[in-house]
Amino acid sequence: MLFSQTGLARYRYYRIALACALGVCTLLLTLGIRIYEQAQVIAEDQQRVAIHTVEKLEKLLDPASPAGRAIPIDQTLSCNALQPVMQQTVARMQTLRSISLVSNGTITCSSLIGALDLNFNKTLPSLAQGKTQLDLRASKWSRVDAPTLVLWQPTTPDNLNGELFVYNIGILSNFLLEPQLPYAAHIVLNVGNQNLEYGSDTIVETSDLPHPALLSVSSDKYDFSVSLFGEEASDLAWNELFTHLPLSLLISLLTATAVYLLSGSRISLAYPISHGISHREFKVYCQPIINSTDGRCIGVETLMRWKNRRQEWVSPDVFIPLAEQHGLIISLTRYLIQTVANNLEVFPATPGFYVSINVAAQHFNNMEIVDDIRTLWLPAQPSVSLMLELTERTRLQELRAAEISQLKEMGILLAIDDFGTGHSSLSYLKTLNPDVLKIDQAFTASIGTDAINATVTDTIITLAQRLNLKLIAEGVETREQVEYLRQRKVDSLQGYYFARPMPIEVFPIWLERYNKSTQIITLREETKPA
Ligand code: C2E
Ligand code: CA
Ligand code: CA
Repeated sequence: MLFSQTGLARYRYYRIALACALGVCTLLLTLGIRIYEQAQVIAEDQQRVAIHTVEKLEKLLDPASPAGRAIPIDQTLSCNALQPVMQQTVARMQTLRSISLVSNGTITCSSLIGALDLNFNKTLPSLAQGKTQLDLRASKWSRVDAPTLVLWQPTTPDNLNGELFVYNIGILSNFLLEPQLPYAAHIVLNVGNQNLEYGSDTIVETSDLPHPALLSVSSDKYDFSVSLFGEEASDLAWNELFTHLPLSLLISLLTATAVYLLSGSRISLAYPISHGISHREFKVYCQPIINSTDGRCIGVETLMRWKNRRQEWVSPDVFIPLAEQHGLIISLTRYLIQTVANNLEVFPATPGFYVSINVAAQHFNNMEIVDDIRTLWLPAQPSVSLMLELTERTRLQELRAAEISQLKEMGILLAIDDFGTGHSSLSYLKTLNPDVLKIDQAFTASIGTDAINATVTDTIITLAQRLNLKLIAEGVETREQVEYLRQRKVDSLQGYYFARPMPIEVFPIWLERYNKSTQIITLREETKPA
């Protein structure tokens, strides 16, 4: 009654599906995280490129400020006198093309041409009207229509006097606005509505720019900004998908393998057990124990059955060790004690009739079993006795003398289960001081077939009788075994020969039928004195 084959196969599919699903999730997650991180880095780099370009342009313009200028221009002098000074300044500031002077709203002098008489407001209206300090425009003074950047430095608050610095920005842009692949395919200088791109001699309006900008960074000092055009950071990050793939694949494969292995381990079954307890999936069965002398049913052993939520029977040989490992056996046993206490009416009121339950040794820790019997069993005022069967699945040291003597005082019978299988030992016998020894079904099965084990069976029987302990033989399946055990005065018999474990509520029906059956009469007849 282990997991059925189809159940196992389905469970394996479930594990594979779970591992694949989590593997794919991990792959997507790691790739997602890597791409997100990469996109962040690229976006920061793009920002850095723009800031750096702005700073370079600012450095270019800074020497034109009165504070930055090496030779001050004294505007009270005539153009003829000033022109050499201005030419000297232009020569010093290598990026500069020319300087012009504005006096009372008229451009009066240029380092390139000399004396001039141009209306400032008509020539450079945005600068003359104080709207901005910079103007990006095609050169008006040279035959080639080259882009220039004009910086206006007023010397009076009425904006009528000052100096104009003209930069050959067309040539400079080839150094300043050089694309930074792959972060920026185009870098554009924006001055008002006018824009200049790397390598281009044409100034274009903002509305004529091909794409919306990735980002723009404005100068804090001057009226210009720098815009970056190109692929979005996230798109650039996606382009690098394949470089992240091997590591992400490795991580997801490891995750899937770990999930597959872990879901197959016993850990994964701990949850269904606790779910099963809370959803009352466990059923209490009982198996009659027969007095070998007169054939009466003198007690029952309770046994757990589990039909899990997928409606599969799970063997106690699977779920009991698991429940013990995961500390769930105590809850399970409490559930059993409570169920039996709630169903006491199914048992006969015959004096000495007992109900036996299997208890894990760990239940003896901290007086838990004693407390549980006090709170769950005794309040039901049972007319039947309670017997506890102990095996040695958990460590012997956990058995405490204090608990054992308390149980004895409460009239609880103690039995050693599976005696002689190696789980039990003589020291265990001494610690527990039991009332009953249960001969393991392997020894019963050996009767008539296996001489060595049959000898061990005889030895156990002799030992129990010497120690004055009652004996129950488990796994009695044949008439021959019944005869053998009765001849050797084994007190009680339990096994399929009499009855298979049955749901607790079926027991009274079975008992009624059994009491009338020929089986019990045969046993009684044989034990009648001649
Ligand atoms: P166990 O305590 O030795 O229980 C006797 C086992 O032998 C039961 O198996 C029973 O169905 C089976 N059996 C009875 N008569 C015969 C027979 O004539 N021939 C054969 N071949 N088998 C027979 P089951 O119910 O599968 O339980 C297996 C083990 O699981 C139990 O062995 C017991 O150690 C544990 N177990 C079952 N229920 C509980 C429980 O409520 N609490 C604890 N702690 N352990 C339990
Ligand atoms: Ca048992
Ligand atoms: Ca047993």
